[in-house]
Amino acid sequence: MNKHEDDIQVDETMLFARKGMGGSSVEPGGADLHTHTIASDGMTSPAYNVRLAHLAGLKALAITDHDTVLGVPEAIEAGAQYGIHIVPGVEISTVEEGIDIHVLGYFLDIEDAGLLERLANLRAVRDRRNEMLVAMLTELGIPLTMEEVVSELGRPLSPGETVGRPHIADALVRRGIVRNMKEAFDEYLGAGGKAYVNPPRIRPQEAVRWIHEAGGAAVMAHPGIYHRDDLVIQLLDTAPWDGIEVWHSDHSEEDAKRYSEMASARDLLQTAGSDFHGARKGDVFHGALGGRRVHEQMVQQLQERSEQYQAERRS
Ligand code: AMP
Ligand code: ZN
Ligand code: FE
Ligand code: FE
Repeated sequence: MNKHEDDIQVDETMLFARKGMGGSSVEPGGADLHTHTIASDGMTSPAYNVRLAHLAGLKALAITDHDTVLGVPEAIEAGAQYGIHIVPGVEISTVEEGIDIHVLGYFLDIEDAGLLERLANLRAVRDRRNEMLVAMLTELGIPLTMEEVVSELGRPLSPGETVGRPHIADALVRRGIVRNMKEAFDEYLGAGGKAYVNPPRIRPQEAVRWIHEAGGAAVMAHPGIYHRDDLVIQLLDTAPWDGIEVWHSDHSEEDAKRYSEMASARDLLQTAGSDFHGARKGDVFHGALGGRRVHEQMVQQLQERSEQYQAERRS
């Protein structure tokens, strides 16, 4: 038994997640390049994700919280302990044609002052969006404030943590307005929902540039969930992307095949990620950690890309 085996106790919820890890089609080893923590809307700490990665037999793990890199240092420390290669990452929220497009950044310099300021601005825009959402809910006869949402997190909010729609969804579930996360998004918070608002944010192209300027590689997150391949293609052809997240918990095999072909045609890297967010009331939100994984050589390729951008940054 590994000497660190019992450092972090895995609770029942995570055992549920564990059932979904691996599976016969998944080889041991590899990298899960898309996971969230409590630094954004995940339910687990960064060290917990690393512990799960160890149990899932992963060699590498990326921490990709929404608009923040706050969780990365803790993961790096835990990664050293468990022998898991931690990829510093971020998932930047952008909007194009009214659709949320997420841009993953890998191996960026998480101490870059320019990057940190840009992410802080994104969180400020997000805070205003959150205020608009709860105002809409209140108008609909569901009185709710962001103070309540934050106080119900069950822990103090640290500066640099991201609050998002899943936290508002939790408050709706807690009040018995909806039964679960899916209902909260379908009825209220998702595109087409009664309280849906999506004020302008930065465009995807800008996020790609920000990531490069911070010395990272930029990957288009989960193109399948946009249901707009025309837009995906247009975006791929109008910014210097490094890769596409071909395998994702919400992608079908056909989706993966299509995006793999799009990536090959453009000489883009092909990544995989579970989009693990932990579990809420026993339901694994998106996918189990390690449920989507790519060969760890991809980690080297992303790192090599990022080294090119870092060299450009110095010159
Ligand atoms: P936000 O960044 O605050 O707009 O929230 C986005 C997050 O909400 C995503 O990362 C997902 O975790 C979650 N989410 C978005 N749409 C849905 C949906 N239809 N069902 C469940 N979760 C969703
Ligand atoms: Zn999320
Ligand atoms: Fe996303
Ligand atoms: Fe995500």
